[in-house]
Amino acid sequence: MATIIDGKAAAARLRERVAGEVAELAATGRPPGLRVVLAGEHPASAAYVRTKEKMAREAGIDAAVVRLPAEASTAEILEVVQGLNRDPEVDGILVQLPLPAGVDEQAIVLAIDPAKDVDGFHPWNVGRLGSLTGDLPPDLLVPCTPMGCLLLLEQTLGREALAGRRAVVVGRSAIVGKPLAQLLLRRHCTVTIAHSRTRDLAEECRRAEILVAAVGRPGLIRGDWVAEGAVVVDVGINRIATEDGRGRLVGDVAYAEVEPRAAAITPVPGGVGPMTVACLLANTVLAARARRAAARER
Ligand code: NAD
Repeated sequence: MATIIDGKAAAARLRERVAGEVAELAATGRPPGLRVVLAGEHPASAAYVRTKEKMAREAGIDAAVVRLPAEASTAEILEVVQGLNRDPEVDGILVQLPLPAGVDEQAIVLAIDPAKDVDGFHPWNVGRLGSLTGDLPPDLLVPCTPMGCLLLLEQTLGREALAGRRAVVVGRSAIVGKPLAQLLLRRHCTVTIAHSRTRDLAEECRRAEILVAAVGRPGLIRGDWVAEGAVVVDVGINRIATEDGRGRLVGDVAYAEVEPRAAAITPVPGGVGPMTVACLLANTVLAARARRAAARER
């Protein structure tokens, strides 16, 4: 029987730590400020944004959503981002992706002040994550989902025990797969990134001591793809149809088949998802502290 990695509990602990740090910042100035930009009414995005705002406020962060119509142009969204860049009370800016069709996502991400980029998607932050070796710079804004995965792995195996392990990350997105591979490299894992063009994906997966699925295909990772004793992190969030018509969330891992073989596994829901939001709050505190330190130096 695998250890079920309780992302909900880990996220609650992280949020509690963040709330303490927010209170310290508030007591010596003002609470960190977070603005989430939502263009349009994509239902999943709207739900994610509501959760982010609620959790941020519960931690004491000055959080608000900036809503734009689905027809908002690249220029209009850029203007909002530039305004938030200039606003001294805003420490963190998150533009909820995907943006409506036709909007130049790349231009928007590039426009965010890297010091306020709490999603960690700006090339400045991506570059710092990938180009420097050694320990993570303590002020670096790392993408939230991969950071959440790393924290769960460290909690499960112990930080030092990651060194030398064979890790396979299935999925090469800029949001999850690639930054997670960089994080695992920094913890001295031997990392393979597999993707849609990988030959014999099952065989690649079987070699993994740490297997991460970040694909978006329900149940892709089958039981016989997983080595006995592997630690499995399931990032996938897929809604599948159910008879009652309400649908159900499942991951990229065929849980019932994989769980008996794994040493530890994250459930969906209740695994990586809650950690993503908690890491966003932690990044907001990090950004607020770094901006305060930079202001003192000026
Ligand atoms: P994406 O669509 O950007 O990338 C998917 C990746 O999977 C691609 O690199 C592609 O090469 C690979 N892939 C596709 N089909 C494959 C196949 N058959 N075999 C092997 N690889 C294949 O997706 P993403 O944004 O990285 O998200 C991946 C999943 O993680 C989605 O289900 C998403 O909803 C979920 N997600 C969860 C969180 C969270 O907080 N838990 C956050 C972000 C994304």
